[in-house]
Amino acid sequence: MYQSMKGMLAKANAEGYAVMAINAFNLETARGVIKAAEEMDAPIIIDLLQDHVMSFFDCDILTKPIVKMAEQSPVPVAINLDHGHDIAHLKRCLHEGFSSVMCDASAYDAEENARITRSVVELAQIYDASVEAEVGNMGRIDDAGVVLTDDQMYTDPDVAIDFIQKTGIDALAVSYGSTHGDYPEGYVPTFHFDIVEKIKAATGAALVLHGGSGAGDDNMRRSVEAGINKINVGTDYMIAQREFVAHALAENPDYDFPTLMQDSWTAGIDTIKHYIEISGSAGKAR
Ligand SMILES: [Zn+2]
Repeated sequence: MYQSMKGMLAKANAEGYAVMAINAFNLETARGVIKAAEEMDAPIIIDLLQDHVMSFFDCDILTKPIVKMAEQSPVPVAINLDHGHDIAHLKRCLHEGFSSVMCDASAYDAEENARITRSVVELAQIYDASVEAEVGNMGRIDDAGVVLTDDQMYTDPDVAIDFIQKTGIDALAVSYGSTHGDYPEGYVPTFHFDIVEKIKAATGAALVLHGGSGAGDDNMRRSVEAGINKINVGTDYMIAQREFVAHALAENPDYDFPTLMQDSWTAGIDTIKHYIEISGSAGKAR
């Protein structure tokens, strides 16, 4: 069934677990996300990164088939625009049928971030869609090298509490130690759970962990205990598929290409199921 994150995260918040949000970028990877959720009887969020949507299949083509897959599924499925920093494009995604959007104006100061986010909240209400926003700025690891979260990037709880009350958002991404992308081998990040606990105690809002890949199972379980209700994982789903392709081609360079593509998204399903287990959302579809 196709839903927004609104009711999904409210239930998770009331019952003390987190819903997994997994990055997909085409029909096959979206199908893998839904299949994993069905096998675990869990609610699920398909996170479509705005940069991917803009450079691969755009929302006018991609949205309807994924909505159809969601409608046909027995478990609750939301489609969320991940890191929507281009507001004009975000509006197009709402128009095409996204049930949820993340308005990422975290590059601006808190006041401007709140102003932009509030305007998106008002627009999303027309579509009955939910809105996630971000205060603070998650670190990032990219091709240019390793850039881990530093002190300036942590969310200030007082700013976040004010932001939630001002904007009326459905969920807030909190920066408390995680980083986007893959961590160096053997590195386990230090999470500042007190930031999450303070915001939760003051607002009761649904809170989001970005950069879940490689954060460590213990950090994730403790995050859920502290008040996280949505966990984003992208990198580990992609790595599982890439490793399958590398291994399959090493074994058989003549692997039938359509079959290789089909087998690759299937190979990522176990990774998603592991995270659903950690998040506490297994069996929470109803
Ligand atoms: Zn993110």
